[in-house]
Amino acid sequence: MSAQAPITQDVMTIPRKAPEGPVNLVGLTRDQLRQALLSIGTPEKQAKMRVNQIWQWIYQWGVRDFAAMTNLAKAYRAQLAENFVIEIPEMVSKQVSMDGTRKYLVRIAGGHEVEVVYIPETDRGTLCVSSQVGCTLTCSFCHTGTQKLVRNLTSGEIVGQIMMARDDLGEWPEPGVGTGESGPRLLSNIVLMGMGEPLYNFDNVRDAMKIAMDGEGISLSRRRITLSTSGVVPEIAKTAEEIGCLLAVSFHATTDEVRDKLVPINKRWNIAELLDALRAYPKLSNSERITFEYVMLKDVNDTDEDARRLVKLIQGIPAKINLIPFNEWPGSPYQRSDWSRIEKFADIIYKAGYASPIRTPRGEDIMAACGQLKSATERARKSRKQIEAEAGVAQQ
Ligand code: SAH
Ligand code: SF4
Repeated sequence: MSAQAPITQDVMTIPRKAPEGPVNLVGLTRDQLRQALLSIGTPEKQAKMRVNQIWQWIYQWGVRDFAAMTNLAKAYRAQLAENFVIEIPEMVSKQVSMDGTRKYLVRIAGGHEVEVVYIPETDRGTLCVSSQVGCTLTCSFCHTGTQKLVRNLTSGEIVGQIMMARDDLGEWPEPGVGTGESGPRLLSNIVLMGMGEPLYNFDNVRDAMKIAMDGEGISLSRRRITLSTSGVVPEIAKTAEEIGCLLAVSFHATTDEVRDKLVPINKRWNIAELLDALRAYPKLSNSERITFEYVMLKDVNDTDEDARRLVKLIQGIPAKINLIPFNEWPGSPYQRSDWSRIEKFADIIYKAGYASPIRTPRGEDIMAACGQLKSATERARKSRKQIEAEAGVAQQ
């Protein structure tokens, strides 16, 4: 399969009024917010200050009602309310796993749904955010990959997932009583590992992450944001330059033959091309190690030879290898490698000098684990039979 061109979103650069209804301020960059304020007659001289004030209300304090923005004149608040809205996606359901993992089903414009997962740990809380409804790619082990791409999420819908989780966790500080920054945050890390390929929705993902990183708002450090890609090579350098977050790559195989089957984008950009792009990443982004994600599939990619090849391939790249025990989903054509096999694989990598944590599956009882996400509202693109046929590698 050749990689498809990214679907471009009708991203609003000049805010507009009806016919689509009032402009949503959530997801606008600072520049776009400024344009929006100027368009309703905010004096040029005041624009910068108004942007700062409104930005802080929305992203620092979590306020959704213009009437509560008490440092703005009443008449100006009314004017804002006439022209704009502050809206985030609607939470339709929440499931809480035995292990505390929360899976939210979130409805976005058009009635589509995406999933968002919150994973609490002792020293951190990670939100797994979606970037698309469905995915154009068809990785054979991934549940989302059986679903058609419906559309890209807007930047407001992406940052809105973070805001919704903060609502649910009750983590917005109270205006006027400090920033609430005592102790570790409940929501301290973001991983772009939900539904979709974030690098096929680059601009919206970038704008949303810039908002999440902004020091006058949600204020998450770029080192607490990890973007996971299946390997959209031309966008990797751009990610370093324009977002600067940590990078994870869905590697999953050590030969092109196997990777072509597991991660079909490999037919467009193969392992050698991917590694070249990854080699340049840490310098470009001034960031630390790249995470190589490796899903452990029984008798497919889990031999000692694979482990040794993997170590050889990534030589010279500051790396951590994250072994993901395969999470099954209804109709999935693979099985999880045996535990002893995973440990042996991890040991070879560890002895070669790499950290090789085995990712503990979280939220399995609510189908919230990696690669299990799929919105119930969208039609499947393939039958189980087709998936199995395409994943011929599983029967080798
Ligand atoms: N599209 C991006 C990010 C979303 S997937 C990407 O492919 O990287 C997040 C991670 O979960 C990826 O490493 C993906 O390969 C992995 N994954 C997908 N399905 C899985 C499954 N069933 N079990 C375990 N990991 C899976
Ligand atoms: Fe898409 Fe990532 Fe799933 Fe592949 S693993 S189908 S790129 S979401």
